[in-house]
Amino acid sequence: MKNNFIHKLIIFLLSIFLLENIFAQNPGEINLVSECDKYGIDLYWDPLTQSGILEKRGHQISFHIDEDFSLYDYKKITFEKAPYLRNEVLFSSKGFFDKAIQLFNTDSEQSLYKIGAILIDPGHGGKDPGASATHTINGKTFTVKEKDVNLSVGLKLYDYLKKACPDKKILMTRNTDVFISLQQRTEIANSVKLKDNEAILYVSIHVNASLDKKASGYEVWYLSPGYRRQVLKNDKNEDKAVQNILNSMLEEEYTTESILIAKFITDGIQAQVSGLSSSRGIKAEEWFVVRNANMPSVLIETGFLTNPKEGALLADDKYLQKISFGIYNGLQAFISHFERSHGFTGVK
Ligand SMILES: [Zn+2]
Repeated sequence: MKNNFIHKLIIFLLSIFLLENIFAQNPGEINLVSECDKYGIDLYWDPLTQSGILEKRGHQISFHIDEDFSLYDYKKITFEKAPYLRNEVLFSSKGFFDKAIQLFNTDSEQSLYKIGAILIDPGHGGKDPGASATHTINGKTFTVKEKDVNLSVGLKLYDYLKKACPDKKILMTRNTDVFISLQQRTEIANSVKLKDNEAILYVSIHVNASLDKKASGYEVWYLSPGYRRQVLKNDKNEDKAVQNILNSMLEEEYTTESILIAKFITDGIQAQVSGLSSSRGIKAEEWFVVRNANMPSVLIETGFLTNPKEGALLADDKYLQKISFGIYNGLQAFISHFERSHGFTGVK
């Protein structure tokens, strides 16, 4: 989390630095910082990766220094040549900038990004119960099984989303007590059909267990930036270096979005169960299920079933209703953020 903010801050400070260092430019070339400013285009520059983003009205052109292509809304487009640095100042050819202006001005709503599908993945099932614990409270003995809690939360979340989002595909990896391998879950995730301008959210639901019976609270995990997924489909005509650059640009985008969903979901659950349970924070992990999934992804641990008090809550349908509603609210907050920041105006 922290690193991400520092990263953004550095980019911001560098932008100001670049703005104040306007060098004389050659004919046919554009001082990118001052020209973007003039046209109301936001320019982000990351000196570490030597890449940058031009953004206007939710549309983005991502480039990497000195390449002969750029990405427009995550699709490859060949420009004359990507921007370049001279004396620490970002320049581009006039051709590049004219093309950028043209794309930003003439774009239709069709290419705007929206969430096309949400895939809910209740962990475990069937012969795989996940964690389980038996407690006796006030003379009453009960057993909580993770697979049951996961399914119950998943089904409730499904109902909320299905009602609220008729324009999106709401999907589940399982909606009964069946066993599905991790491999199958990944395949389901990757086989969801989407339009070019649609993204998919992957929401995995689990319950925690610990030898320490006092451990309690919910936590939301997002996919860590450490794992380099092969995000783009491999195109034989594309050379490896190009693939790698395209992949890392997309990787960055998915990671940022995953951190944001994690934050929104944590806030959503907090609003529903404060006083009953508390957040253990947002965490990054490389978990198997979504390693191959081309999507922003979160995993929610709804609580510790090994804790007698929390175990009783997790066995209570009313409590699971609260948890599900919290996750739902978090997803809704994320969706409106995502679709607004990606310029979607919500026409159904
Ligand atoms: Zn689990």
